Amino acid sequence: MPRFQRPTGTLDILPEEQSYWEHVRAHAIRLARRAGFERIDVPVFEATDLFARGIGAATDVVEKEMYTFNDKGGNSLTLRPEFTAGVVRAYIEHGMHVRPQPVKLYSIGPVFRYDRPQAGRYRQFHQLNLEILGTQDPAADLEIMLLVWDLYAGLGFRGLSFQLNSTGCPRCRPAYVELLKSYYHRHVDQICDDCRRRLETNPLRVLDCKAAQCQPVIEAAPPIGDHLCDECADHFAQLREYLDLLGKPYTLNHRLVRGLDYYTKTVFEVWAAGIGAQAAVCGGGRYDGLAEILGGPSTPAVGVAAGLERIILGMKAQEVGVPPLPPPPVFLAHLGPEARQEAARLADGLRRAGIGAWLAFGERGLKSQLREANKRGASYVVLIGEDELAQGVAAVRDMRTGEQTEVGLAELVGWLQERTGR
Ligand code: AMP
Repeated sequence: MPRFQRPTGTLDILPEEQSYWEHVRAHAIRLARRAGFERIDVPVFEATDLFARGIGAATDVVEKEMYTFNDKGGNSLTLRPEFTAGVVRAYIEHGMHVRPQPVKLYSIGPVFRYDRPQAGRYRQFHQLNLEILGTQDPAADLEIMLLVWDLYAGLGFRGLSFQLNSTGCPRCRPAYVELLKSYYHRHVDQICDDCRRRLETNPLRVLDCKAAQCQPVIEAAPPIGDHLCDECADHFAQLREYLDLLGKPYTLNHRLVRGLDYYTKTVFEVWAAGIGAQAAVCGGGRYDGLAEILGGPSTPAVGVAAGLERIILGMKAQEVGVPPLPPPPVFLAHLGPEARQEAARLADGLRRAGIGAWLAFGERGLKSQLREANKRGASYVVLIGEDELAQGVAAVRDMRTGEQTEVGLAELVGWLQERTGR
């Protein structure tokens, strides 16, 4: 028989990892709800066209990274490579523009990209996604940025900073793109093949090329900040004023354009120091044109996606601890067939009363059961033998002190409730 392994670029999140996941999820959801975000769950797969249109056919995500397949009905479907297109699709489909605006939505779940796997880069990973739909206000951009800031700060990340840029709008960007192209055409012999190609398909992306030979060309490229229209410049200035007011450090980064086509105006990333190569822990921005691209009403919006694997890797790199997920405090040991039945009944009663209980399985000696209770980290072992059963009691051992107490079966739940704080 072949031995199966998980697909390349995927992770098994084992029980011992789950304390991180629970902690991060709970923290993220608490922050989102506190700022008035409501949860939305959208399908894991959508029509391929939604992503091709929404994200942009010439982006890396759409060109190279989508998991696309035909279902048995011949429909082309794609596993979501990100949340925004699906969330905006749902906003339009359910007529959410008639609700009080803006609508604030959060999602959390797996996304899929055929990426080159490496540390912090997977093919199935999880994102926390936040969107504010239906407002132009730079205060919404700020709110999204502060929320992810608090997400990382509250999880113990140090050395946080924003990278910030504005990529303009359909009014000012085309002229800038022409300027950038003519600048690049003058340096075409100095740039990599990828950039030569991008220059035709997705010119802004030349600015975030990582190839060494392109760096001097990027450094000297005209910055988009000098070519924004009044509306974009004003929006950007207001956002920076807010950030200054709140004392949040940011670096203006004219190379920051991000991979997805739908961004307008604000784009930003959060960087964390000391977590290695993948310093960008999350990225987002404004996408005022997306709803229209997807056939909906004009809906200015801003959002962010944070990768949860990268958060957890970062927490480990920065040696941030999380509270453990405690095992059931009570272990039920039994000797003899009738005692076994009573133990099963008690386990059920304890769980119903809200007390975690582990029932020993099988017929085994006391020593073996106590060893198991110890390994499982139980605080109390309830031991029932035939003698105890005859007297209507159980022997309860406090595993920390070794002290043993006889407790009436009728009182047992209350007795343990008091001691386990349930
Ligand atoms: P993006 O949707 O590309 O803006 O990515 C948003 C965030 O998702 C990034 O900042 C990372 O935290 C995370 N991310 C993106 N791609 C991957 C990947 N292949 N593996 C793990 N996390 C990722």
